[in-house]
Amino acid sequence: MGVDCLFCRIVAGEIPATIVRETPTTLAFRDIDPKAPTHILVIPKEHYVDVATLAQGTPELAGEVLQTAALVAEEEGLTVDGFRLMFNTGPYGGQEVFHVHAHLLGGAPLGPMLCR
Ligand code: AMP
Ligand code: ZN
Repeated sequence: MGVDCLFCRIVAGEIPATIVRETPTTLAFRDIDPKAPTHILVIPKEHYVDVATLAQGTPELAGEVLQTAALVAEEEGLTVDGFRLMFNTGPYGGQEVFHVHAHLLGGAPLGPMLCR
């Protein structure tokens, strides 16, 4: 477990979350402060700081995170109209929780990717 990591504590069941899908290696749960009608976070249960560390260290697990995200997108009815899947990474990327997580966003038009 990462030292005092919020998402490791969710994996351990120490902090409650609305879990929508669990696999042996991944967890998907609703974001506590949703930025779209559907906003779900998908994480590996094992602690990795960010997507670069995960993808370079354990690419199979990165693939499992994407697979869970795709299944949840389907279950949430997002595949027809589309959705956004993103990994904020590091300070310039706006990452606030340093346990890698994919944001799955959808349920309405999401607008341009970045505001200038
Ligand atoms: P990021 O800025 O990419 O690190 O995103 C962190 C996300 O975690 C934000 O969208 C937060 O709303 C979300 N978040 C923080 N605490 C919790 C929590 N206890 N349960 C679910 N989502 C959370
Ligand atoms: Zn962690």
